[in-house]
Amino acid sequence: MAKKEDLSVREALSLVLEKVEILPAEEVSLLEALGRVLAAAVVATDDLPPFANSAMDGYAIQAADVTAASQDAPARLRVIADIAAGSSLTVTLHSNTAARIMTGAPLPPGADAVIPVEDTDEPWRGVERPLPEHIAVYRAVSAGDYVRYPGEDIRAGDAVLEEGKLLRPQEIGVLASLGVGRVAVVRRPRVAILATGDELVDVSDPLSPGKIRNSNSYAQAAQVTALGGTPVLLGVAGDTEQAVREKLADAVRAKVDLIISSAGVSVGAYDVVKAVLDDAGGIGFWRVRMRPGKPLAFGMFHGIPYLGMPGNPVSAMVSFETFARPAILKMGGYENLARPSVQAVVLEAIRSDGRESYLRAIVTRDERGYVARTTGGQGSHMMTSLVKANALLVVPEGVKEVAVGTVLTALMIDWLGGVF
Ligand code: AMP
Ligand code: MG
Repeated sequence: MAKKEDLSVREALSLVLEKVEILPAEEVSLLEALGRVLAAAVVATDDLPPFANSAMDGYAIQAADVTAASQDAPARLRVIADIAAGSSLTVTLHSNTAARIMTGAPLPPGADAVIPVEDTDEPWRGVERPLPEHIAVYRAVSAGDYVRYPGEDIRAGDAVLEEGKLLRPQEIGVLASLGVGRVAVVRRPRVAILATGDELVDVSDPLSPGKIRNSNSYAQAAQVTALGGTPVLLGVAGDTEQAVREKLADAVRAKVDLIISSAGVSVGAYDVVKAVLDDAGGIGFWRVRMRPGKPLAFGMFHGIPYLGMPGNPVSAMVSFETFARPAILKMGGYENLARPSVQAVVLEAIRSDGRESYLRAIVTRDERGYVARTTGGQGSHMMTSLVKANALLVVPEGVKEVAVGTVLTALMIDWLGGVF
């Protein structure tokens, strides 16, 4: 039997992260790329903007023609063309002429500035806007005013987005503007989820004496999905080694990237998951100095990283949060593996047992800054303690009493931490 090790949360997490690797790339369309991580740098093949164009609705002009223009002494220019956005019309502007131009329309050769329509005598509020023969310009502009030059934003050849970049809506927009319709991103982790226990029935089954519904698989599938992963549900294995073995063989055949199980890794008489993993070798059984969620199995199962969580729903969720979440994010290529956290003033006295404790808490803001209170009953079977919570309040290792007013770190489990 493998040796049981006592580990701190930090030690356990670093052992887990050591074993999981960033997954290979796949190509997806831009519409599927939100929240994914770029697997290769994107190099611009075009300038952006691709051509000189107007930043305003107005008139393309030569700035030198209006240097003395003012409200009292307007410059008078002859209008020789009307250039709409999307037009490829090319007229050449000469001195004392102007071309009406719309925002985004190409600046004609010879022009070096745009005068906004508001600074001319054109009655621009009407729907019908016949092209005037002449316009009066009421102020001076400098060469380059209201012109967007090619390559001002991005130059062809620039590595615009680096490998590892998280694709947010703004990155998707840049990719579209560069004509990149398909993009190489890190593949989504496929995570097998196994529930174990003779007491478990499925969500749609009626309860009979001694039975409870398998909630862990559904909660964990949701946790995986929320991290951009794909859950692969293995169902429930009863408390026999044979049943557990068969389900894990399914996971290996499905070529998943990570296997997660709940229950059966503790010291109960029917903790058969442990027996099966023991036989397979390569798995460590840890007593992590944390609360909830002390027992944890981790290692490689037939080449696949394996995390065996405790069975109690709250312990399972907090263990997932602490170990599976960073592991899945790392596989998905994300850099930011930690939840966003705040420093919160504790509003009630808290007792702990010296293990690093993750208390379900409600964090709000008032004149003191962030303040935290626990959600009440903290038993590891009390799922409502998590339902009410928006944070996990961390009582550090070695601390047994927390006085009112103490400042603790609160992990904000409702705030997005890098994934959409
Ligand atoms: P165990 O680790 O097998 O001793 O399980 C610890 C506790 O978690 C027991 O009360 C189990 O009934 C409960 N439990 C185990 N698996 C699940 C599950 N999939 N859904 C809900 N509760 C579970
Ligand atoms: Mg059990």
